Amino acid sequence: MRKNIVAGNWKMNTTLAEGVGLAKDVNEALKNAADVKCDVVICVPFTHLASVAAVIDEKLGLGAENCADHVKGAYTGEVSAPMVASTGAKYVILGHSERRQYYGETSEILKEKVNLALAENLTPIFCIGEVLEERENGSFLDVVTKQIQEALFDLSAEDFGKLILAYEPVWAIGTGKTATAEQAQEMHAHIRGVIAEKYGKEVADNCSILYGGSCKPSNAKELFAKADVDGGLIGGAALDAASFMGIVTAF
Ligand code: PEP
Repeated sequence: MRKNIVAGNWKMNTTLAEGVGLAKDVNEALKNAADVKCDVVICVPFTHLASVAAVIDEKLGLGAENCADHVKGAYTGEVSAPMVASTGAKYVILGHSERRQYYGETSEILKEKVNLALAENLTPIFCIGEVLEERENGSFLDVVTKQIQEALFDLSAEDFGKLILAYEPVWAIGTGKTATAEQAQEMHAHIRGVIAEKYGKEVADNCSILYGGSCKPSNAKELFAKADVDGGLIGGAALDAASFMGIVTAF
């Protein structure tokens, strides 16, 4: 079933002590918040997963920010999907534009990662989105269509139904420049159409599609009010419990 979701992406921020403190703050705020109308997830550095899992309640979901494209073995420095799952995490961000841009993650690699995550019952939060040049030259709908087709369309309908998608225009990530609610809605409706064409209307209607890119308490309400925007993937504003909760309570 399609759900409203707000997920934090801490990226490479916080020491272990700071991260555990932030997780406790978010957990406490969520516990005390009246009438929360969305699922809430924090995606944290690998080093923090087990410690954070130990201090949060069931109500707050936990995820990793990446996993390896191999299940085990001689891949020094990598962290596999089974390792992530063994910490108690239930989600994993895959295909973030920073991974694509700085670590050369291609659709082929991401296909493997998605399969390995699903095999561990981890829910991938799969990121797609165009760069500024593609927004400006008008190819953005095609670019995102291709990202989805290449990495995800080998999945069965059943497995596709386990994914969360996050539309993150790269030009809006960490720049303070948010897509307008209309730009987000246009893309989210387009994505739902692409899914419907491949897997049918029911799978498309049930897919949660999050928006990411300089989302903050001041603009979340307008973005989340759009018919096809089912929540947010939040970077910078997830590093402060009050800001993050300001977005959570925008629903
Ligand atoms: C992100 O990196 O997933 C993100 C949305 O970052 P920010 O909110 O800081 O733009």
